[in-house]
Amino acid sequence: MSAAIQACLGCGSLLFPARLLCPRCGQDDFSTVQAEQADVQQTTQLADGTLLATLTIPNGPHVIARVTGGTTVPGESLPLTNNPNAGPGVHAFIPVPSNVNQDQP
Ligand SMILES: [Zn+2]
Repeated sequence: MSAAIQACLGCGSLLFPARLLCPRCGQDDFSTVQAEQADVQQTTQLADGTLLATLTIPNGPHVIARVTGGTTVPGESLPLTNNPNAGPGVHAFIPVPSNVNQDQP
């Protein structure tokens, strides 16, 4: 399981959500890479029971994801997914990034 995130072709920065310009180097050429896991920093439970987590992708950005398939606590590492119905097991769901400015192979 993995989730697509944007990678700058100029400086290699990993970005989520997708950007039109890289905030580090200003380039507008991007590709998509797959992020497998992210580390849970903090969780928040909404009134409707939805569990959100702030996660850090190693060498990448912080993302806020919806936790699916169970619960988590800070310090755990969760598999990332672009599939809101991923399973079995606990996953961190982030939406598919737009492909704005993405270089096609
Ligand atoms: Zn860059």
